[in-house]
Amino acid sequence: MEYDVTIGLEVHCEMKTNTKMFSPALNSYNTIPNFNIGEIDLAFPGTLPQVNFEAVKKSIMMALALNCKVPNYMYFDRKNYYYPDLPKGYQVTQAHDPVGTNGYLDLFVGDTVKRVYIHDIHLEEDTASLDHYSTYSLLDYNRCGVPLLETVTEPCLHSVDEALAFLDALRKVFIYCDVSEARTDRGQMRCDVNVSLAPKGSKTLGTRVEMKNINSFVNVRNAIECEIARQKEALENGEVIEQETRRYDDTECKTFRMRSKADAVDYKYFIDPNIPPFKINESLISEVKARIPALQFERINKYMNEYEISKYDATVLVKDREMAEYFDNLIANEIDAKTACNWVTTVIAGYLNKNDLEIKDLYLTSDMLAYVIKSVNKGDISGKQAKEVVEKSLTEKKSPKDIIKSMGMKQISDDATIRGIIVSILDAHQDLINEYHNGRSNVFDFFIGQVMKQTRGQANPSMTSSILKEEIDKR
Ligand code: ADP
Ligand code: MG
Repeated sequence: MEYDVTIGLEVHCEMKTNTKMFSPALNSYNTIPNFNIGEIDLAFPGTLPQVNFEAVKKSIMMALALNCKVPNYMYFDRKNYYYPDLPKGYQVTQAHDPVGTNGYLDLFVGDTVKRVYIHDIHLEEDTASLDHYSTYSLLDYNRCGVPLLETVTEPCLHSVDEALAFLDALRKVFIYCDVSEARTDRGQMRCDVNVSLAPKGSKTLGTRVEMKNINSFVNVRNAIECEIARQKEALENGEVIEQETRRYDDTECKTFRMRSKADAVDYKYFIDPNIPPFKINESLISEVKARIPALQFERINKYMNEYEISKYDATVLVKDREMAEYFDNLIANEIDAKTACNWVTTVIAGYLNKNDLEIKDLYLTSDMLAYVIKSVNKGDISGKQAKEVVEKSLTEKKSPKDIIKSMGMKQISDDATIRGIIVSILDAHQDLINEYHNGRSNVFDFFIGQVMKQTRGQANPSMTSSILKEEIDKR
């Protein structure tokens, strides 16, 4: 039997802020356990939470970037349960009126556009991390109290590729907005995956199974694929899928039952009495909105439609915000879009890849590159020289202006000078001219090479080639 697959994601992302969600303890990645901890996160008696306003603003920014409705008041609720990674006995979260609801994110899945609906996005605090050993467990409270944003999609994803395209696009929104580094290798982005199967064409969704805390995109892919296969087999055998939570084990590439939804705890949510709700006013909304940069999807469309750049190149340009801004700045410098795209996607992206660097590590600024391209346009240096200048500037960290000056680079575009050089070379090689006329066409390239050698590569290439043709044909 054929089935329709439905996937819904709950994505947790640790935010980048100076301090924790409700305490002045530092929020910074640290491999030394229990280094960034404070009395408030550890729930010492008598302590009270202080709301981190930076985190609040960033959560509103993400809500707006995901086209969500933002409420008039910011509320925090308590989610009550006991676990050693949560010393207070409750997690502060947003249950009844989260910072964003009813949003969407448009993205590309291959070449097609997909709108992924966002049920809600809410702000909460992360828990400590636990490492279990055979007879004991270790607790690290560094993560306890780190501001966390949870984005919940509607069950509107219908393939592994759509789920992964969404995760990648969401990750880029976090990074573009500077809300999170969203590094999966540091556990900054983790995901609960819900999967259900229904007979093809069915109007109702099947029973979902939830897989908790998957920490890498590869594991999301594997977990979904193996859960689809497991459910398919169960349905084929006439079994009924139970709503349950399963654990994905990446060493065995299998999911294991953890608990049934029937065993779900009642968290007894209520508004945290220690954090009075506060107004999110219009001026705060507009201040935050103004700081949202043009996002990936918007930029790809602009580059394709306005600049006629291919989807492939546009995708390379928006890989990160700095790269896109580097390109935008070339355009602002009145460099032709295709030329700018060519430089960034080949020379610059190539150099970054080869040396495992990022745009911000480059010595050659976008303004400097614009200067080089303009020098070519003005005929001051050749395209070949420009490449040389750029390479040198990148590796030796010297300004293109100085390089051009110190290497005495200029392009010779004067007919008489080039002709003079060509005539003297031809005069010295009568034998080769004969061979050329007898059909050895590579002699032509030899002469071009001689001109370039004598002029140290400064002769205008197209003029050299046409004058050489004229002169050699005369003989
Ligand atoms: P809970 O709070 O118990 O996890 P929610 O109703 O908030 O339950 O749903 C959580 C996630 O499950 C959401 O991402 C949603 O899209 C997804 N989901 C809900 N129903 C289905 C379904 N039938 N198939 C797949 N995913 C689903
Ligand atoms: Mg859930």
